[in-house]
Amino acid sequence: MNSTRTKDKLEITIMKKIIVAIDGYSSCGKSTIAKALAQYAGYTYVDTGAMYRAVALYGLRHGIITDKSIDEKALQDQLDNIHISFRFVDGAQHVCLNGEDVETQIRTLEVGNGASRVSTIGFVRRFLVAQQQLMGKEKGIVMDGRDIGTVVFPEAELKLFLTASPQIRAQRRYNELAAKGEQPDFAAVLADVEDRDYRDTHRAESPLRQADDAIVVDNSDMTREQQMKYITAIFDGHNR
Ligand code: C5P
Repeated sequence: MNSTRTKDKLEITIMKKIIVAIDGYSSCGKSTIAKALAQYAGYTYVDTGAMYRAVALYGLRHGIITDKSIDEKALQDQLDNIHISFRFVDGAQHVCLNGEDVETQIRTLEVGNGASRVSTIGFVRRFLVAQQQLMGKEKGIVMDGRDIGTVVFPEAELKLFLTASPQIRAQRRYNELAAKGEQPDFAAVLADVEDRDYRDTHRAESPLRQADDAIVVDNSDMTREQQMKYITAIFDGHNR
């Protein structure tokens, strides 16, 4: 609620809460912009990729997911043992797997790759989508992922579809991994980005696609500040 007092009247504007769905390819800065927009709007931010990563981490730890295969039967049998939640540490959102903060463990190439593979399985998607829909019941949420505007919240008031060239995304991912002390090989990172794009767009279950009513934002040549300015202007326009 915003209130403005002028000389002789008090004007009160009730801001309606909306759902903002942000979809796009991997490593195109969705979570950075989604977090910043959530903070700007005073909304809750939900990183759905972290939820797929947490399922992958569980599978890797329990030998259900290996380099070569996924034991789908075992994963389905154990789905009820996978409890995902979020907590805040110094203002940053961390994902928890069965109560353990696994925010650092899920951010590796291995887990990212496992998440991309596990996200092609229908029962995993249904399991996580149901939880995501509950989180958005009260609106006032910014959620990012691959299927938010198409499957999770097809009725979202504002849908953004982020994109950038594979080379630029691979470079950003490379910089992130290097900053964490890993020694990535650029060609391997680029190949991984391209593999994930292929899997995200070609899977039978909820493939990544732009919703018809989404606004496309190609941030290849935008700084974070330019992108933020552009996106907050779109948000303000929608939220009048
Ligand atoms: O966004 P992030 O890279 O953390 O997501 C990890 C993987 O989870 C992605 O490669 C993508 O395949 C999958 N994913 C998905 N649907 C979502 C969010 C993520 O399929 N809503």
